[in-house]
Amino acid sequence: MVHTEQDRWSRVKGRLRASVGEDVYSSWFGRLDLEDIRDGSVHLSVPTRFLKSWIQTHYADRVLQCWQAELPQVSRIDLTVRSAMRCAAPVKAAEPAREERRETRAVHEARGTAAAPVSASHEALGGSPLDPRLTFATFVTGRSNTLAHAAAKQVAEGRHGDPVMFNPLYIHAGVGLGKTHLLQAVTWAGNAAPDRKVLYLTAEKFMYGFVAALKTQTALAFKEALRGIDVLVIDDLQFLQGKSTQAEFCHTLNALIDAGRQVVIAADRPPSDLESLDERVRSRLAGGLVVEMGSLGEELRLEILKSRVAAARTYHAGFDVPAAVLEYLARSITHNGRDLDGAVNRLLAHSKLNGQPVTLEMAEREVRDLIRPQDPKRVKIEDIQRVVARQYSVSRADLLSSRRTANVVRPRQVAMYLAKTLTLRSLPEIGRRFGGRDHTTVLHAVRKIEGLIAKDNALANEVELLKRQLQE
Ligand code: ADP
Ligand code: MG
Repeated sequence: MVHTEQDRWSRVKGRLRASVGEDVYSSWFGRLDLEDIRDGSVHLSVPTRFLKSWIQTHYADRVLQCWQAELPQVSRIDLTVRSAMRCAAPVKAAEPAREERRETRAVHEARGTAAAPVSASHEALGGSPLDPRLTFATFVTGRSNTLAHAAAKQVAEGRHGDPVMFNPLYIHAGVGLGKTHLLQAVTWAGNAAPDRKVLYLTAEKFMYGFVAALKTQTALAFKEALRGIDVLVIDDLQFLQGKSTQAEFCHTLNALIDAGRQVVIAADRPPSDLESLDERVRSRLAGGLVVEMGSLGEELRLEILKSRVAAARTYHAGFDVPAAVLEYLARSITHNGRDLDGAVNRLLAHSKLNGQPVTLEMAEREVRDLIRPQDPKRVKIEDIQRVVARQYSVSRADLLSSRRTANVVRPRQVAMYLAKTLTLRSLPEIGRRFGGRDHTTVLHAVRKIEGLIAKDNALANEVELLKRQLQE
């Protein structure tokens, strides 16, 4: 690059600094580089998409004005992202990323931001309170959660500056199956390591923290605080709402991932089903490791109960629950971990208050309302498609295709009908999952099958059979 261009660039930066102030300048423009000047258009670059979109939305005019003050013929500014760091690759492939991380770290250290105490960042960001009981030590593993547990452990044990294996780690499961427990375990374990900062936020706290910070003009403090964090943990992402919040979430996610920071997320559904999030965010979320935790099996339930009783006994030595009672509870409380906790608490309260030993009879009486007749299973759209395709001897691809021959149209309508009646998915979502169809098409299919079932017994039986198969 010609010498005078760099001089000019320095003067433009001086103007920018004078115009926005030192703080804003160093936060947003410190890493802005000049790439090229050609035919009245200036090409600038920044290291992350977050910076790019922030500068574009907040300072585009300002940057242009500062350039025009130095060089009147400049008519436009092009801003691009310099080679974004990708850290989602497996460890080996991520070696170069380690190098880049070291550089980033050096930058933080030079700025004195790396050592911000975790409590300060917690305060600045409104970190959600942690339950001291939710640790790895109290998390019981079984078939349904082995993978999620292993991934969470891996994240928790990573050291400051380690390359990130999968980013984000996205864990989804129904209510009470241990998401919050696992996420808080990561937070406890991660923060126990010196030099490593893990921030746990519920989606609501994230919204409140971020949006509030922006509104009170402390976005810089917020950003600085985020910068000092190695792992950001966000719980219950399905509650993230509002267009602008989502945009900020998207920026934050990109910024953290691009900077090689680990992001861990839990939600009650897979990324593809987060209907209110925009497609780019969903695909970014799906681009890391997505793990589902299934329902707790009977064995796992029994182990959880045993560990709860053992924990209670450290404070209430006289508390004893016979094996037969534990087995009864594990067999009959099938719904979720919260109810298992509830059951143990009730037995404890009862035996304390009445001074009586825990018996099977007492347990039956105490937990009656926690036993649900038959938990409706979470039915997935993929399962519906698979079962319907098999039933009608077509392929799943046929169901999603645009083919309109009768042998495909009817099964497709049946599958859409089942998706509407057996899941909580909305019509647009179902349409999307059936090869990107419009919601009116889904509505039409649902009405059509409803109408047919009312007068066609054979079809009614067929659909009933499919339903039963799916809910078993
Ligand atoms: P979620 O966030 O998925 O709704 P939680 O993490 O709040 O569920 O779990 C509900 C209750 O069940 C908590 O008390 C939790 O400790 C317990 N629990 C769930 N899974 C496990 C497990 N694998 N080991 C021990 N406790 C568990
Ligand atoms: Mg939870």
